[in-house]
Amino acid sequence: MARKKIIAGNWKMNKTPSEAVELVNLLKDLVKNDDVDVVYCVPAIDIVPVVEATKGTNVAVGAENMYFEESGAYTGEISAAMLVDAGVKYVIIGHSERRDYFKEDDVLLNKKVKKAFEAGITPILCCGESLEQRELGVTMDWIRLQIKSDLAGVTADQVKSMVIAYEPIWAIGTGKTATSDQAQEVCKGIRDLIAEIYDTDTAEAVRIQYGGSMNAGNAAELLAKPDIDGGLIGGASLKADFGQVVNAGK
Ligand code: PEP
Repeated sequence: MARKKIIAGNWKMNKTPSEAVELVNLLKDLVKNDDVDVVYCVPAIDIVPVVEATKGTNVAVGAENMYFEESGAYTGEISAAMLVDAGVKYVIIGHSERRDYFKEDDVLLNKKVKKAFEAGITPILCCGESLEQRELGVTMDWIRLQIKSDLAGVTADQVKSMVIAYEPIWAIGTGKTATSDQAQEVCKGIRDLIAEIYDTDTAEAVRIQYGGSMNAGNAAELLAKPDIDGGLIGGASLKADFGQVVNAGK
């Protein structure tokens, strides 16, 4: 089954609301490509202006995080219902920066994944190993643990509609990209794991991205691999190069 490629920018903690609109306008013509799903995952304060600025374009807007509770006394948090009302279609869950700096664990991430589905938002679930884990040869063992915990209680139909991002921590923001063979090997490992937990139909349907210093120079080679269905892009999503990454996915 042919899976449509999905290229998502992760803007992280960059761009004020007015800068965000400038970036949307800069990229508007560069990211036009109906063969690819294009997503901008933006800081919470940029969601409303970016939804407005991308109206009528091929770009969907995503959040970088959300909380699993419905509403209430959770100062500083944003609910799934708030995101939906603002026009958000995707949410990044379990980025390594949130796992590391904000101590988000798999129990919490599983609640967030389930809440996103309940609200009708597509989760982009991140997983990936540290350099130490790669050198110890436990990459796939670690990722199996992450995915099994994060997807506990999630149905096959839900998994078919979601996105999993394989992001080796040592490649994020370092300029050190995994080779296309390394990325393919793990993305295939994740697909095999989904087949093992669910079934082959689910494994064939789920979209698996690679993320970690993907840019205009290396995107085409990574996206040509059979189990890499797109990219989650940090640094290169903040400039005109993002247009080249989107078009490398043709
Ligand atoms: C990311 O933050 O998800 C990411 C992949 O960042 P970068 O592309 O800058 O490595």
